[in-house]
Amino acid sequence: MELTFIGTGYVGLVSGVCFSEIGNQVTCVDKDLDKVARLNKGEVPIYEPGLQELMEKNTASGHLKFTADLATSVQNADIVFICVGTPSLASGEANLEYVEQVAQDIALAMNGYKIVVTKSTVPVGTNDKIKQIISQLSPHPFDIVSIPEFLREGSAVKDTLRPDRIIIGTSSERAAATLTELHKPLTDEIMVTEVRSAEMIKYASNAFLATKISFINEIANICEKVGADVTHVAQGMGYDKRIGSSFLQAGIGYGGSCFPKDTHALIQIAGNVDYEFKLLKSVVEVNNDQRFNIISKLNHSLGSMQGKTVGIWGLAFKPNTDDVREAPALDIIKTLLQEGAVVKAYDPIATENFRRFFRNESDVQWCDSAMETAESCDALCLLTDWSEFKEIDLRELNGVMKQPILIDGRNVYSKEQLADTNFQYYSIGRPELE
Ligand code: NAD
Repeated sequence: MELTFIGTGYVGLVSGVCFSEIGNQVTCVDKDLDKVARLNKGEVPIYEPGLQELMEKNTASGHLKFTADLATSVQNADIVFICVGTPSLASGEANLEYVEQVAQDIALAMNGYKIVVTKSTVPVGTNDKIKQIISQLSPHPFDIVSIPEFLREGSAVKDTLRPDRIIIGTSSERAAATLTELHKPLTDEIMVTEVRSAEMIKYASNAFLATKISFINEIANICEKVGADVTHVAQGMGYDKRIGSSFLQAGIGYGGSCFPKDTHALIQIAGNVDYEFKLLKSVVEVNNDQRFNIISKLNHSLGSMQGKTVGIWGLAFKPNTDDVREAPALDIIKTLLQEGAVVKAYDPIATENFRRFFRNESDVQWCDSAMETAESCDALCLLTDWSEFKEIDLRELNGVMKQPILIDGRNVYSKEQLADTNFQYYSIGRPELE
């Protein structure tokens, strides 16, 4: 099929590349001319394992192209996918300006029947709005479909080629049949439902996962006070198939471009129909507090932070991505600077993206390796569980620091690894190791 993906971020680019890989003719469109130029030179503007290779292969075979020419791409397409961002407004609601702009652009370009699919995460009712915008501006027939995206950054290619499920939300049998056909090579778990339910499935799924994270983080905080080990507790809980073991890793809370914004948006969606989503409000509050556990542990171990050198390992909101949006490291480093600490920071991939969040970049010493970061530090904080940090030689690390204080925000190290070191070690919900 001829497919057009509008927006070449994590969702649009990865989806475009993967659908070209399974035999479709794909055009990826972006209004960012610089991004399009880079893509046409074969540069991948985001870090995503496996993406570069598939992109090279499919551009070389002629199945995949990049352009800023939205109109021609829409005209050539059977199916047009909207994959632009829906960031949070100050109110917490999703900002729909990019989605609505693209809906107008599609309408003005249409030259015959099209299926318009929204992959962007949008509040319930948005696809009805998109339908209205297009029908007001275009005389051509079209169908609207919501196919929410569930890929995870860091394993986006794998998730797109082997998704757990595909949700197709539409009232059109014709569109449902075409999209079922398109997704068949990826999975048998294809569910067709109405548009509003599909829109809600995305928010409910992310809210539920965020709830699991905040739940285990609160259990971890209690474990610290009662002398239990949260990793054992989570393991014991996870054997119960009704609970499952995923998303029960205690730490410093979730970040990224989806959970924070989607939880806020769902609170607003509920609020707009006079429903107070009390549970989700607490989930957000717990998450906002959890990252500051690192600061409390630093205060506890170092006393005043004034003039102390603190190393930070990990800036991305999770491993295997360069995405730093809403990363806990942002709040933690800003607080450390406010408290007068000297901050050294390192991430295997995300440093360049992270630095842009600091007006005065020289406030932080940006390092090129994990060991360089730790050198002469009074304390070191692990904030992202990159495998590079898991595999580090802790005895060597012990040797290069000024004071052996290690704060592990992701429960990466075991008792065995810490043996033969004299670290003052703090993790999350494992008081026995302290
Ligand atoms: P992103 O910000 O990385 O990329 C969006 C892209 O759209 C940008 O390149 C931007 O230049 C482009 N764009 C904006 N307006 C445009 C226009 N008028 N014409 C052409 N291009 C335009 O966004 P993302 O992370 O890929 O997320 C996209 C959507 O998918 C969001 O709604 C997000 O919530 C949802 N989502 C994201 C993820 C994820 O892990 N990133 C996962 C699931 C769902």
